[in-house]
This record gives sequence, C-alpha cells and structure tokens, in this order.
Amino acid sequence: MKAPPFAYARARSLAHAIELLAAHGDDAKLLAGGQSLMPALNMRLSSPRVLIDISRLHELAGIHVADGHVHIGALTTHAAIGESPDVRKHLPLLADAAPHIAHPAIRNSGTFGGSLAMADPAAEWPTCCVALNAQMVLASASGTRRVAARDFFQGLYTTAITPGEVLSEVIIPIPGAGCRHAFLELARRRGDYAIVGIAAIGNVTGSTLNDLRLTYLGTGDRPAYAHDTSQVFVSKGFSVLSLQQAQQHLAHELDPAADLYHSAATKLHLAHVLTERAMKQLLA
Ligand SMILES: Cc1cc2nc3c(=O)[nH]c(=O)nc-3n(C[C@H](O)[C@H](O)[C@H](O)COP(=O)(O)OP(=O)(O)OC[C@H]3O[C@@H](n4cnc5c(N)ncnc54)[C@H](O)[C@@H]3O)c2cc1C
Repeated sequence: MKAPPFAYARARSLAHAIELLAAHGDDAKLLAGGQSLMPALNMRLSSPRVLIDISRLHELAGIHVADGHVHIGALTTHAAIGESPDVRKHLPLLADAAPHIAHPAIRNSGTFGGSLAMADPAAEWPTCCVALNAQMVLASASGTRRVAARDFFQGLYTTAITPGEVLSEVIIPIPGAGCRHAFLELARRRGDYAIVGIAAIGNVTGSTLNDLRLTYLGTGDRPAYAHDTSQVFVSKGFSVLSLQQAQQHLAHELDPAADLYHSAATKLHLAHVLTERAMKQLLA
C-alpha cells in the first residue's frame, strides 16, 4: 500500500520544529529515521496531515560525556550508539544491545529518540533506558523538562511526550566501578523483534550484590523493571533456592501477552530462563 497524502515541512532547527508542531497541532507528526513511521504510513496505521522532518537537525545528534553522565542526542542512530567508544566504555549495556536491533540498514537510519518515542514494548532501547535510570529531555515552546525513563513509558506505544514536545536528548548516569551488566534476548531470527529480553545491571563487590535492576522487554505493555525479583537476589544471593523464589515474584511482576506464536506462559518461562542466564553472566 501507499501512504495517504501528507504535507511535508523540513525543520531548520529544534526551535523551528517546535514552532511547526505548535502551528499544526495533532495533524502533525515528527519524522526522524522514518523506520517505524514510514511503514506505519504505508500500512495506513497512521495518517498525519503534515510530516515535520527533523532528520537533518545535527544539533539533536551525537554523544558526549559530561559531569558523570552520557548525553545521547535524540537523532543519534542505533548504529552510531553501537559503534561509539564512549558508549562502549561507560554504558556497555547499550553497546551490547545495539546489534540486536533489526538489521544494519535500519540501524543506520533509525534513531534513539525515534525508538524511545515509539515505545514499542519489544524494543531494546526503552528497556535499557529504564535499567540505566535514564532521564528523557523534552523540549517545547515553554522550555525543557526532564522525565525519568520509568515514568516516560506509560503503556503500549504511549509515552509522557505531550503535544508540542520534542524528545531532544537522553541523559544517562555513568554507573560506578563494580557495576556489571548483561543484555540478552530471544528472537525467532536474528534481527527480528525480541520475543522476550532482559537488561540486567547491578553492583558486584566480592560476593555482595547491590542495586540490581532486572528489566524486561516483550513481557507487557512497556519495559518492566522487576523490583521484587531483583531484591530476592540482592538479599539472598544467587542459588537454586533464590532462583525459585525469583520465579514466583517474576510471575507477579511481568504481564506478557500471547502473540501469534507464543502463549503468555511460554513468554514467562523464557523470561525466567533469561533471568538465570543474566544472573550467571553478571556474577561470572
Ligand atoms: C523491519 C524492521 C525491523 C525492526 N526491528 C526492530 C528491533 O528489533 N528492535 C527495535 O527496537 N526496533 C526495531 N525496528 C524499529 C526501528 O528501530 C526504528 O528505527 C525505531 O523504532 C524508530 O526510530 P526512527 O528514528 O526510525 O523514528 P520514526 O520512524 O521517524 O518515528 C517513530 C515515531 O516517533 C516519533 N518521533 C521520532 N523522533 C521523535 C523525537 N525526537 N521526539 C518526539 N517524537 C519523535 C515520530 O513522530 C513517530 O511517531 C524495526 C523496524 C523495521 C522496519
């Protein structure tokens, strides 16, 4: 199918994009990498009257490190994040997650901000951002505001972005020394959206585990931080017994929906399998 007709406006700056959004209201949609929006238009799942192209706003692209945080511009591509030495050094969880996103062509065009704004519950970046306690920066005519990743994702394809706002950058605290991570996912074929995945991060000192954040993708309508499951391993360590207890908590904390190929029970089982693998990797 072909996209329905739409008008096109290329933003010259972030301020211009905000102006255009204000002028066109609900009739407009931002166009970043176009890797989710264009298929949605072609399938007529979305029919904005105006596309506001922000893809050439260099001010919104790039990665820099300042004051103990990594700043990632919304227009930074998946590939640029995967290849960034700063990301590999300070946020290796993101570097490990990047190759799981789709295929090289999509990673070369698709953007960090586009993926976060899309809020697909099976996408990698939203879950990583929750696990890393990221802050989303939203710019509008009235200035900027920050929203914690845990509050940003509000449901299926739903975020805290309000009309007139542009996600401009994401600020992620650099985890301290002793922080370990694991990113794992199961997909039918490499490059497919995950069936279930996990982003795990925690501090390991000797045999002590602290600040463990087990966060799941593909297991509900948004990224799921499993607080009680994480606490089982923090308080009891990793053993056959704690794994069994964690499994019980996981069943309460995750709410996977069945898809064409997998029942909810299968997804829950897969989440448990990934939890065990992630914990072993974290503690290895
Ligand atoms: C075949 C295929 C396989 C894929 N597999 C995966 C996968 O395995 N994992 C995965 O995570 N993704 C996958 N994707 C999606 C891909 O990662 C997209 O790049 C991403 O979801 C959207 O980023 P984009 O820059 O292309 O955004 P666009 O498609 O341009 O926009 C997506 C939505 O976000 C809004 N938006 C974009 N930027 C902003 C902003 N800065 N502020 C506010 N709103 C904004 C747009 O208005 C639109 O509603 C796949 C896509 C395809 C086509």
